[in-house]
Amino acid sequence: SEPVLEIRRLSVDYGLGDSAVRAVREVDLTLHRGEVLGLAGESGSGKSTLAYGLTRLLPPPGVISGGQVLYHPVDGPPVDVLTLSPAQLRAFRWAETSIVFQGAMNSLNPVHKVSTQLVDVIRAHQPGLSRPARLARARELLRLVGISADRLDSYPHQLSGGMRQRVMIGMALALEPQVVIMDEPTTALDVVMQRQILGQLAELRERLGFAVLFITHDLSLLVEFSDRIAIMYGGRVVEQAPAAQLYRAALHPYTDGLLHSFPALRGPRRELTGIPGSPPDLRAMPDGCAFHPRCPKALAPCDSRLPTLGPPADDPGRAVACWLHPADEVVAR
Ligand code: ATP
Ligand code: MG
Repeated sequence: SEPVLEIRRLSVDYGLGDSAVRAVREVDLTLHRGEVLGLAGESGSGKSTLAYGLTRLLPPPGVISGGQVLYHPVDGPPVDVLTLSPAQLRAFRWAETSIVFQGAMNSLNPVHKVSTQLVDVIRAHQPGLSRPARLARARELLRLVGISADRLDSYPHQLSGGMRQRVMIGMALALEPQVVIMDEPTTALDVVMQRQILGQLAELRERLGFAVLFITHDLSLLVEFSDRIAIMYGGRVVEQAPAAQLYRAALHPYTDGLLHSFPALRGPRRELTGIPGSPPDLRAMPDGCAFHPRCPKALAPCDSRLPTLGPPADDPGRAVACWLHPADEVVAR
C-alpha cells in the first residue's frame, strides 16, 4: 500500500556542539496509509524523541540535526514536515497528523468540562460550524471512542484515566486526520487498559481509515494489534517486519530479548528471560552495533562495524540491522 508518512534519515540531538547527545540516529521508517505501525524499544531508546521530532514538537534543547519527514496528503504532492512554516504546521497538526502524547490524559484542562475542550478543538479548525453542530460533533466523537454522550458535562477529574485517554483520542480524531500518533503512557496506564485502547484504535482505524503510529515498550501488545512493528535501540531502528513474522521469528537478538521480556497475551508461553545489562549511554555509544555488549550472539564484526538496516537475503518484506543477517547491497527504503 502507498506511504502516508516517510521518515528519512531523521536525526535528533539534545543540546548543541560538544555537549550534544544524539537520541535519534538516521531513522528510516515508512507509515503506510491505513496501517497500524507499532514502535517498541526499551526506555530511552528514542521512541518519544522520534515522535516529537517528526511532528516538530521537540522541547528544548532538542534539535533536528538532519533528515526529512515526507507527508503525503490525500491529494496533492508530498510535503516535508520539517520545512513547514509555523502557520502551515498548526494546520497540519490536527487536520493531517494528530498526536496523543505520553501523559496526555493529564493534559486535559481540569477547570473545563469535556464538552468545552472538544468544542474548542473543533471551533479552532472549523470556525464556520454553528454551536449546535459543534456540540453534535463533540457528542459523535465521544460515542466513537465508546463514551456515552451524558459524559459531555463531566469535568476531567470525574472520569477514569482510561476515559480521559479516550477523550484525548476523540479529540485527536476530531478533524479526521490521516495519521494518529500515540505515545503510550506505559507508566500511567495498566496493561489491560492499554490493550483496550489499542484495540479500540485499531477498530476505529478499520472504520475511518487513518494510519496509526503506536509507541510502547510492551512488544506483546503490538504483536496483537499492529500490522507492522519497528524496534528501536540506542536511537536507531534495528528491525522492522510484519507483526506476525516478527513474533514468529525475530531476526535481531535484541528483538528476541524484548519478546522474552513481556508475557504473551495469546499463543504459546515464552520463557521470560529479559535482556541482561542495560541500554547504552548516549554519551558513550559502543562502536559497531550498539547492542553488541549485551548480545548473546555477537560475532567478529559486531564490536567494530555498524550494521545497516536492510532486508535479509531471503525476505524483502522485512529489514534488520544485524551482522547475523547481513543486508543485501540495497539499503531498505
Ligand atoms: P520511554 O520508553 O521511557 O518513554 P523513549 O524511548 O521514549 O523512552 P526518549 O524519551 O525519546 O526515549 O529519550 C531518548 C534519549 O534522549 C534518552 O537517553 C533520554 O535521556 C534523552 N533525552 C530525552 N529528553 C531529553 C532532554 N530534554 N535533554 C536531554 N536528553 C534527553
Ligand atoms: Mg517515551
